[in-house]
Amino acid sequence: MDLASWSKNLFSSKSLSTLFLILIFAIVGVILNYMLLWPSANVAHSVYIHGNVSRLPKYGRDKFYNISQDIFLLHSDKDDLADLVAGGKTNRNRANLKPCPETPPGLIGKITINARNFTESVTNDDSLRRVVYGGRYSPDDCVARERTAIIIPYRDREDHLDILTRHLHNILQRQQLEYRIFVIEMALPTQFNRGLLANIGFLFAKETGDFSCFIIHDVDALMMNDKNLYRCGSQPRHLVTGSTKFRTWNDEYGLPYGSYMSGVIALTDSQFTQANGFSNVYFGWGGEDDDFTNRVQRANMKFERPEKDIGIYLAIPHETDSTNPKNPARFGILDASAARQTIEGVNSFYNNRQKIKYKRYAIEYRRYYTWILIGVNEAAITKQYEKYLGEPFAV
Ligand code: UDP
Ligand code: MN
Repeated sequence: MDLASWSKNLFSSKSLSTLFLILIFAIVGVILNYMLLWPSANVAHSVYIHGNVSRLPKYGRDKFYNISQDIFLLHSDKDDLADLVAGGKTNRNRANLKPCPETPPGLIGKITINARNFTESVTNDDSLRRVVYGGRYSPDDCVARERTAIIIPYRDREDHLDILTRHLHNILQRQQLEYRIFVIEMALPTQFNRGLLANIGFLFAKETGDFSCFIIHDVDALMMNDKNLYRCGSQPRHLVTGSTKFRTWNDEYGLPYGSYMSGVIALTDSQFTQANGFSNVYFGWGGEDDDFTNRVQRANMKFERPEKDIGIYLAIPHETDSTNPKNPARFGILDASAARQTIEGVNSFYNNRQKIKYKRYAIEYRRYYTWILIGVNEAAITKQYEKYLGEPFAV
């Protein structure tokens, strides 16, 4: 065929429509590819939002769009979607794997933490790459001896949270744990309430996955020895034996008093439930931790600690938080602790007559942790338990 007749043929209406069809298929193909494949590779996390954006702390507001009543937004890659559908349980077939060794082989012992940026000197970004959205990890080559939920009562300490989550991912992977980090944040304008957030975090973790151990963790506490295994015991465990913020008489890192159990504690589901969790009525700073010590004791349990030099923590220095002022009524509320033990605690969020109402404004599967935003009505809770708050000015 000579060139002239070839080009004539090409521009005949039959060839043109064939070309046109090919073009359409190509365009549709590209669009389909874009719709089906692109989202599974690029989307950051899943969000559901109930309610009003003004409830969010300042740094979170601009990230949300499309707000209306009870909207449900889900962005997810495929693994994460499976994870959501499975309620956070991994459905990988691990029948052939052996249990991880009793003593994890990769531990270092005493950890050096860089005082300028608070990162561990052996920090390895590989550990961050291995984390699944929502802050979840499970060892590849063995079955973890503990499935640990880390629960961080939280508000507005972004810098601490960034430091702590990196620190934990690095170390908990060396400890060969299966774990997930939950950050439970309290919506404004309510005063901070650490106990209530711990309870809700515990229940949320139980709902999300199959955990054998629950660790309530301050956002500013960094373990300084990786032999401090984030596992539970036959009794509730206080994982802190000393903190850089408390010095003993001979200038060692210590605790302020013997029964002190703040900072980091580890309990099984049944231990936490037996103590009926934390009291929910301490708004502002102080009291909820000593109250919990009493609850554990009254439930015939006792806090145990690791060896003295293993439970040392670096306390990241900070100022007082404006929405967590010292609670002047805390001593009186603590006096009435026994009277409240069975009537309020973690059972306050089950369906019963004494139920405490709360709202779950948002849940996000973020890159290094799962974040939930909780709202409660402080005045309503205080009114609900007014008979059980002791003498307001007891000292
Ligand atoms: N917390 C927070 N934001 C606040 C107040 C408290 O995230 O505004 C959390 C955080 O996990 C913190 C813990 O509650 O580590 C205990 O509070 P704080 O650090 O003020 O107590 P302290 O340093 O006196 O033990
Ligand atoms: Mn602190």
